[in-house]
Amino acid sequence: MKLNSLGLSSIGAKLTLAICSVIALGFGSIVYFYAKQQEKNILLQNERAIQQVLNSVSEGLQTVMITGSADVAELYADKLKGIKDVDDFRIVRTNGLEAFRDNETIHKVNQHRGEADFEPRPTEHEHRVFAADDANLIRAISTQRFVYYYHQQHGLEHLTFLLPIKNVKKCHRCHGKEREVFGVLEFRSALDTVREEVRQTWMQSLLVLAMALAAVLVVATVVLRRYIVRPIEVVSLAMAKVAAGDLNQNIPVIGRDELSLMALSFNKMTGELRDSYAGFNSEHNKLETILMGTDEGIVVTDGSGAVVLVNPAAEFLLDKPSARIVEEGFLRLLDDPQRMECSLEHAGIAGTNDVFLYRQRFLAVYASTLQRADGHMLGHAAIIRDMTKEKRLEQLLRELSNTDALTGLANRRALDETLAREFALAHEQGRELAVLMFDVDHFKKFNDNHGHDQGDRVLKAFAVTTRSYVREVLDTVCRYGGEEFMVIARETSQDGAVILAERIREGIEAMVVDGLRVTTSIGVAGIRETGASTPGELIERADAALYEAKRSGRNRVTAAARGGAA
Ligand code: GH3
Ligand code: MG
Ligand code: MG
Repeated sequence: MKLNSLGLSSIGAKLTLAICSVIALGFGSIVYFYAKQQEKNILLQNERAIQQVLNSVSEGLQTVMITGSADVAELYADKLKGIKDVDDFRIVRTNGLEAFRDNETIHKVNQHRGEADFEPRPTEHEHRVFAADDANLIRAISTQRFVYYYHQQHGLEHLTFLLPIKNVKKCHRCHGKEREVFGVLEFRSALDTVREEVRQTWMQSLLVLAMALAAVLVVATVVLRRYIVRPIEVVSLAMAKVAAGDLNQNIPVIGRDELSLMALSFNKMTGELRDSYAGFNSEHNKLETILMGTDEGIVVTDGSGAVVLVNPAAEFLLDKPSARIVEEGFLRLLDDPQRMECSLEHAGIAGTNDVFLYRQRFLAVYASTLQRADGHMLGHAAIIRDMTKEKRLEQLLRELSNTDALTGLANRRALDETLAREFALAHEQGRELAVLMFDVDHFKKFNDNHGHDQGDRVLKAFAVTTRSYVREVLDTVCRYGGEEFMVIARETSQDGAVILAERIREGIEAMVVDGLRVTTSIGVAGIRETGASTPGELIERADAALYEAKRSGRNRVTAAARGGAA
C-alpha cells in the first residue's frame, strides 16, 4: 500500500513537474519578452523625453542668441547642468572645444558685423569636451541630425545626446552663412533612475510569473490527482490485491477516457482470471480426486529429485507413510535403489515398466521422466500397480495348464516338457533315467460293470497310491492319457525302475476302492539299457514293454529289451 502510493505520488509529481515546466517555460518566455519590451519602451520614452527637452533647450538658446545675449546662453547652459538626472550639459563647437569659454566667436561675430558690439571676455579657457575626431561628434555634425549613445563613465551607465546646432537664417546676421553647423548641444544623463525603473519592471514581471506558476502548480496538482493519479492509484491497488491472490476486484468505470478503458480492461481481465481460476480449480479437484482415489500408487519428484507428491495408494502399496517415502527418496521407493536407478536410466519420457517382488506383493512400476516441451527436466514420476492377484492367477493358470483335472497329476503336456528336459539333462550329465508306463487292466470292463464315475474314483485312487511309492523330489507321476499313467524316475536304472514298478503294482493290487479292486500292467524302459536316443523312443520302448506285460497275462511288470525291442 505504502509502496504503491509512493510510486503513484511519484507519477503525480512527475506529471506536475512536466506540466509546470512546460507552462513555466511558456510563461517565462512571455514574461521575458514582455519585460524586455517594457525595458525597451522605458529607454525609448527616456530618449524621447530627453530629445524633447533638448529641442526646447535648443530653441531657447537660439532665442537668447538672436537677442544678442550670448553670455545669457552661457549662463543658461551652466544652469541646466544643475537639473536632476542631468550630468552634463554643454555647448560644444565642431572642433570638440566647449563654446563660450574663449573670445574666438566674439571676434568673428564682431568682424562679420563690422562693429565691436560684443565685449571680449577678460579671461579665456580652452576646455575640450570631445576629441576633434570623435566619431559621434563627427556623425552628428555631418548628418545634421541628433545622435545618442549609451556608455560607461566612472563605473556608471550614461546616455549622451548630441543635438547639432544648425546655422539657420536667423543666425546669418552675426555668423554669416559659410558654416552649416556651429557645433552640438551635448546632454549627458546617468541612467540610474531609468535602470531602477527597468529593474522594477523585471521584478514585477517575475512576481507575476511566480504567482502564475504557483497557481498553475496548485491547479495542476488538484486536476492531476483527481483525474489521473487517483484513477491510476485505484487500478494499481486493485492490481496489487489481484497479485496477492484476491481476484474479486472490480473497478468503477466513470467516463470514457483512456483510464476508464484501462479500468474496463482490468475488470475484464480479472473476470477472465476468475473464470480460468475456477476452471483450473475444478480441474485440480478432479485431478486430486483421481490421484487420491485411484488404486494405483503415484509418487512424483521435482527437478532436484525431492519427492513432492505421494498419494494414499502409494503409501498403502509401499507399506510406508508418506513422510518416510519423502525422507528415503525416490530411489528407495521399493528398497532396491540400484534397480530403480537402472529403471530411471532407461525411462526417459516414454517411461519403462518393471515388476518388483516387494514385501510379498508383485508391484508393477511404471517410471518416467517428466519434461517440459523445451526439454527441461521437471522431475520423475512412478506409477505403482499391485499385480499380486494377476501374478497369482497367472501362476494358477500355468499350474492348471500342466495339471490333470481328475487326478491332480502332471498332464501329458507337462510330461512331455519334463521328460524332454530330463532326457536332455541325463544325456548331458551321463545320468540314468527310466520311465514306467502303466495301464489299468480290463478297465473298459470295469467301467461297464461299475459305471464311469466309479472308474474315475478308481483312477484318482490309482494316482494317490502311485504317488505314495515314488520319491517326492526325484520322481514325477503323470497321467499319460485315459487310464494310462507314467512315472519319470530320475537317476534310476532300468532295474531300479523295475523294482519301483513292482512295488507300485503290488500297491495297486492291494488297493481297495469302494470295495472294488483293480490291477495294472507296467512297462519299464531305461535310457542307458534301451539306448533310446529321444524321449519319444524311450516312451516307445516302455510302451512296447507294457504291451508285452499285457500279452503275457497282465498284472505284471516287464522291462524293455536291452539295446532293442522288448
Ligand atoms: P486292457 O487290460 O487290455 O488294458 O483292457 P482295457 O479294457 O483296459 O482296454 P483299454 O486299455 O484299451 O481300455 C481303456 C478303457 O479305459 C476305455 C475307457 O472306458 C476307460 N477309460 C479311459 N479313460 C477313462 C476315464 O477317464 N475314466 C473312466 N472311468 N474310464 C476311462
Ligand atoms: Mg489302456
Ligand atoms: Mg487298460
